[in-house]
Amino acid sequence: MKVGVYPGSFDPITFGHLDIIKRAEKLFDEIIVLVADSGKKKHLFSLKERKEMLEEVFKNKKNIKVEILHGLLAEYMKEKELVFVVRGLRAISDFEFEFQHSTINKELNKEMETVFFMTEPKYFYLNSSIIKEIVGLKGSVREFLPELVEEKLKEKLKP
Ligand code: ADP
Repeated sequence: MKVGVYPGSFDPITFGHLDIIKRAEKLFDEIIVLVADSGKKKHLFSLKERKEMLEEVFKNKKNIKVEILHGLLAEYMKEKELVFVVRGLRAISDFEFEFQHSTINKELNKEMETVFFMTEPKYFYLNSSIIKEIVGLKGSVREFLPELVEEKLKEKLKP
């Protein structure tokens, strides 16, 4: 069975992330969506909230599992004996960051391979931060993320 691990903050998940998962499903039998706490970023939703939200989004998908990443991705992959990491590429701005990370990961764990998928052009500029900004300013984000996520976001950002 081919397993792909898709790590990210998912704070919150958007149609950009879902588009990458949809593409990865063509290549992998199972996808583990791995919710990570990046030390640098300040998150709006807690790890637990993000995990629960993702579980709700994927509740009807048997091939998608949600897990939390504690520590290094390279170690997680080694421990679980998994090889493939899935990442998404947006406009060129992602390239340098992703290039650095996949190169470092390869140093830390020689078995790891990172697979990149390009998103739909309409999601090229979509990220979780811009979504939070729009909702914070009471704008509509209906076309960018699942309804249940939008509701949770509105609730969270309620003054
Ligand atoms: P991270 O904090 O690791 O950047 P994100 O949740 O922001 O986590 O993103 C996880 C992965 O999903 C990254 O590879 C990112 O490039 C990709 N991604 C996020 N939004 C989009 C999008 N709109 N289109 C394509 N890929 C995306």
